[in-house]
This record gives sequence, structure tokens and C-alpha cells, in this order.
Amino acid sequence: MSVFDPRTLLLSLTTVALVTGLLLLISSRQNRDEPGLVYWGLANLVGAAGLILAGLRGITHDRLTIDLANALIVSAYALNWAGTRRFCHRPAPVWMIAAPALVWLALNQWPAFHLNASWRIVGVSLLSASACFAAATTLWNLRGERLVSRYPAVVWLILNGAMFLARVPLVLLSEAPDNTGVQASPAFTLILFAGLIHVTLITFLQISLTKDRAENRYRQAANTDMLTGAPNRRAFFDVAEPLVAAAARENRPACALIVDIDRFKTINDTLGHAAGDAVLVAVAGAIAAQLRPGDAFGRLGGEEFGCLLPDTDLLTATHIAEELRARIAALDLRYEGAVVRISASIGIAPTEATTDSLDRLLAEADAGLYQAKRAGRDRVVAMDVVFR
Ligand code: GH3
Ligand code: MG
Ligand code: MG
Repeated sequence: MSVFDPRTLLLSLTTVALVTGLLLLISSRQNRDEPGLVYWGLANLVGAAGLILAGLRGITHDRLTIDLANALIVSAYALNWAGTRRFCHRPAPVWMIAAPALVWLALNQWPAFHLNASWRIVGVSLLSASACFAAATTLWNLRGERLVSRYPAVVWLILNGAMFLARVPLVLLSEAPDNTGVQASPAFTLILFAGLIHVTLITFLQISLTKDRAENRYRQAANTDMLTGAPNRRAFFDVAEPLVAAAARENRPACALIVDIDRFKTINDTLGHAAGDAVLVAVAGAIAAQLRPGDAFGRLGGEEFGCLLPDTDLLTATHIAEELRARIAALDLRYEGAVVRISASIGIAPTEATTDSLDRLLAEADAGLYQAKRAGRDRVVAMDVVFR
């Protein structure tokens, strides 16, 4: 018995579909916010059920081993498409999942179709190809999310769909296998082999897609300040450090700003921590609204925010900081009916002061901030290299 013996291949494909189906379902329990996994897991299990029935050909009734078996197999492809739609945040109504199987079962009510093995292969191939192309289109249209596995998954779905389509002329041009010999035909062996590769590859890609999305979420969480939604200190340094290095290398101006809310402790002490939190959120929003695309910003800690303005000389940075100070002072904040007045002090340092590191540059800006606080707060002080 060769490994390409259809029975061996059928057993291998059924086992792989069962195992990967269970694997996807287990994975769906660990990723409860990813509904696509349940559909993908069910797809493999439904496919496996179809294959088991197909394997009983000759042992039990044709209506089960042909009609129902292939209805389950086309449903597996439909479920895969439905899972892809759910993964792409789109609805997957039941009729979409059931339609290919219903078309298949309706066709089989027509004796000329049911008794012709070539026509049956064409029917299954066209229905499966449609589901593959539909899933590829859904995944292709998923925008605004960086998923490394998306392109290989689209390519594979198109390739698999194309392989189904290629079967159509091949089957129609070759001599029709008789109804009993269909499972022993070379075409059937090829279909099983392609199925084995498809199930293995598509499951790998589906798990990779889920992992890509989870990694994006973790990365986002690791880089974001939970309270304000602003980039955190780590994310700020990740973006701003290369900007300082580039400014030094290319001899271009850049400025660092530190924004510190004035007498913030008093807000906490008089209005409560929740009011303080609301102020932090409002100030983070004001800074984000003031900055230009390409500027870096983040919450350094407590009530301090850092900004790095690339390609910005000290005069321009001072104007931007002054506008920001005025914007913060004009914030219309209310807490439990009471108006909350706030202000902020801002220290600025240009990269002419130091390009050693962002830490050193921020220390220079902090010196400006210290002067602003000593001079009475609610002001901007730039540490100019001239005075150093
Ligand atoms: P100054 O004008 O000199 O900057 O005085 P300040 O009160 O703003 O500065 P100080 O450093 O004395 O107080 C900062 C306070 O910020 C102390 C700390 O409890 C509070 N704080 C730090 N993180 C948070 C936070 O996430 N939420 C709230 N509500 N308060 C915070
Ligand atoms: Mg403060
Ligand atoms: Mg402070």
C-alpha cells in the first residue's frame, strides 16, 4: 500500500482535520475575544465529519457518503469564510454558512447530476472555490491593522481557490470515472493531497493571524498610559530617542519640552484623586491637539508630559509651547458642577544644549521648568544655549 493510496490519504486528512479543529477550539477558549477561531475550529471538525462519511463509500448509503459527506465538506469551506468574516469584525449570518450546502443538496435532487461523478466534482469544486475567494477578499479588505500573516493567508486562499477551479476543466476533459471507481481515481488522490496541505497551512495561518493581533494588542498596551491613553514613558523614549540622534547626525534643530501641571497636588487634595485623574486626561488631550504630525509626546510620569519637536528651532518651539500653555489655561474643566482652573509650566531645551541622550536633553528642559515654577508658574522658560 503506497502512501498515496487514497485510503491512507483520506485517513491522514481526516486525522489532521480533527486534530487541527480541536486545536483551534482549544485556542478559542484562550482567546475569547477572537470569535473567528470557533468558526475555523468547527470548519475543520465539520470537514473531518464529511471525510469520515466519504470514507464509508460502498459500506453505507450513497445519500450519506456522497450527498451528506460533500454537503459537510462545502460547509467546512463556508465556515472557514464565516470565521474569516468574524475575524475581520464582519457579521457571518447562518444563511451564508448554509448556502453552499443547500445548493449542493438541491443539485443532488437532480438525478443527472447526482449520478455523474464529474459533475459532482465540478459542483464541489465551484462551491469550495467561491468560499476560498470570498474569504481571501474579506481578509484583503481588512484595513488599519498590521497583521504579518494577512498576505500569506490571502495568497494561499486564492491559490487553493484556483486549484479548485483548475479541477473543473481537468475533470470535464478527462473520462468520467464510473460511480464506484471515483475514490480510486488519480484525481481523487490529488484532491486529498491538496486537502491535506490546505488544512495544515490554513490552520497555521489562522493561528498566526490570531497571534499577530494579540501581539499588536500587547504592544499597544505596553506602550500606552492606561489613564490618559497617551504614549507612556517607554513609548515616548522609543520614538524620541531616534529623533534626537537624527537631529545630531544631520545637524538639524530639535527641541524637547517638559509640561508640568501647576499645583496638581492641591487638585488631588481638595477635589479628590478622581478629579486629578480627569485633569490629567484633559491635559494629555490638549497636548495631543497642539502637537503636529511627527512630533513625539508621552506621559513621563505623575503630572509631567514630555514632547520632542523635530526640525524645530528654539523660537518656533517657544511659540508652540506658549500656545500650549494658553490652551491648557483655557481648558473648560468642571468637576461635580465646580469649575476647575488649572495651569501648566513648560521647560524647553534645544538639541544645541546637548545631543548626548534624550535623558540629558530632558534634564536641560527640566532646568527650564524649575525656573518657570520659581518665577510663579503658568509660564514657558527656554534653556537657551547662549546662557550656558
Ligand atoms: P508644582 O506646581 O510645583 O508642580 O506642584 P505639584 O503639586 O503639581 O507637584 P507635586 O510633585 O508636589 O505633586 C504631584 C502630584 O501628582 C503628587 C501625586 O500624588 C499626583 N499624581 C501622580 N500621579 C497621579 C495620577 O495618576 N493621578 C492623580 N490623580 N494624581 C497623581
Ligand atoms: Mg506639578
Ligand atoms: Mg511634577
